Amino acid sequence: MSLDDYDRLYEEARDEPAFSNGDEGYSWIDANCSTCIHDKEQRDSMSGGCPLILISLMGRTPIQWLDQKQEGRLYSRQGQYQCIEYRHEDDGPVEPQPIPDPPGQLTLAPRDDFEGVRMLTPLPEPEAVSR
Ligand code: SF4
Repeated sequence: MSLDDYDRLYEEARDEPAFSNGDEGYSWIDANCSTCIHDKEQRDSMSGGCPLILISLMGRTPIQWLDQKQEGRLYSRQGQYQCIEYRHEDDGPVEPQPIPDPPGQLTLAPRDDFEGVRMLTPLPEPEAVSR
């Protein structure tokens, strides 16, 4: 993910502000993006930066930010979204490194269709489960 992906990420973002004010937004960004590899260039050299932050500053909510706000539950400013693109800056390469197929072995099933971004979805509330 880089600034080159900005247009695509902007188009798929939800057309609603992520935060109700700047204080709330910078509180979340400081807590979640200050150690992320995707914003490291911005921190180090004041160039580039994470396109998701830029999208949120343009009044949209990236779909990569899973909303943790639920009716009747407490949440903190820092925990109101979970970014699925977060990678700690000391975490290794940015691109996923799949475990290579063992040398000299046939592959039983191609893995291409099953690799990609992992989407986490919240579990349903116990009352919502039909019996
Ligand atoms: S990928 Fe997510 S956590 Fe990382 S800098 Fe961008 S918005 Fe912040």
